Amino acid sequence: MQSLTDQQLLQAAQQFGTPLYIYNAHKITEQYQKLKSAFYKPNTRFFYACKALTNIHVLQHIKSIGCNIDCSSINEVKLALYAGFEPKHILYTSNGIHFTEIQEAVGLGVNITIDSISNLKKFAIQYQNTYPVSIRIRPDIMGGGNINISTGHENSKFGIPITRLNDILTLMQEHPLHVSGLHIHTGSDIEDISVFIDGIEVLFEILPHFPQLKFLDLGSGFKVKYKEGDKATNIELLAKEIYEDFDQHPSAKHLEIWFEPGKFLVSESGYFLTKVNVMKENNESKFIGVDTGFNHLIRPMFYGSYHHIKNLSNPSTAKDTYTIVGNLCETDTFATDRTLDVTNEEDILCFYNAGAYGFEMSSNFNSRFKPAEVLFKDNEFSLIRRRDVFEDLLHHQINLSTVK
Ligand code: PLP
Repeated sequence: MQSLTDQQLLQAAQQFGTPLYIYNAHKITEQYQKLKSAFYKPNTRFFYACKALTNIHVLQHIKSIGCNIDCSSINEVKLALYAGFEPKHILYTSNGIHFTEIQEAVGLGVNITIDSISNLKKFAIQYQNTYPVSIRIRPDIMGGGNINISTGHENSKFGIPITRLNDILTLMQEHPLHVSGLHIHTGSDIEDISVFIDGIEVLFEILPHFPQLKFLDLGSGFKVKYKEGDKATNIELLAKEIYEDFDQHPSAKHLEIWFEPGKFLVSESGYFLTKVNVMKENNESKFIGVDTGFNHLIRPMFYGSYHHIKNLSNPSTAKDTYTIVGNLCETDTFATDRTLDVTNEEDILCFYNAGAYGFEMSSNFNSRFKPAEVLFKDNEFSLIRRRDVFEDLLHHQINLSTVK
């Protein structure tokens, strides 16, 4: 699979303007094939964690390659249905939600994972064993790139702590409950395979309490490369070790294995293009001021994520060191002291690995427009979301005719 060339990216910037998100559908397919060939057994199922990127055209592409979908809100469930996924291919991994949302998900017939004793109890009282449910366990394992993206540790809000297993068992004695799955998800950017293996151990220990189990859902957190020399999760080795563990376990070997990859499928497919508005020299720093900010790409500011940045317009042997900042009325630094090809106003910069949690976390802060999105597929760029226009800022405000 060929990555998009600088020329193609520049052409897209010219055609659709900036700031602009571009997704390469072929890269998404390639990543899915990597997972499928490593985890080759038919008992393994993948559910794309669509919180990473929900554009309907991307969802339809994901569906067309045979992947299922994981949703974190009832509206994501509705988007998945809108994109054509069948309920049985939709997983709703809820967290921190009101019980009415779970009732709605039951009404839509999708797979459901519950992550609190409180909601599990309400579920047991209302549905007893008429609707299968999966339970999210917090395994008390520290995993992931940093604390902000770690979700399985003992101070995390996610899941039901493994130390409260007895509460789940008591609940199951009081109300018949059809527990079809157990779920863990310890974080994002997990390079260390032992984090997954430790999580599996935690689930294996409690298996005997859940005789109706059909699957173990191991969540996700597969790491991708962000820069030269970076390491990704070794998916082949991970698959080998997980299959060995399951094969050796008398009850686990009959279970399905589910995963919910988000970043692994879409991160590297995405490019975020931005134009240089203004060059500034203040004291020691040379600032590149771009036509975007954390309203469009918040990951660097929100959890210190690294995005490789390249000047597409001026490939040159002459380099300089810059701090790249946005155009918001807040401190919005994308990168400090980065070496780039010499940069001038009007140049186009590209942020790589922009497919996951990029557009999806965007906002209209400072009343700026959300960017356009473009899908590259079958050698063509197609606009899949138009850039906001001024009316979009007013769209939800009411009684505007009475405003003087
Ligand atoms: N599953 C759950 C429950 C999650 O919370 C997340 C990410 O937040 C994912 C899957 C996807 O993780 P990633 O994008 O690291 O693959």
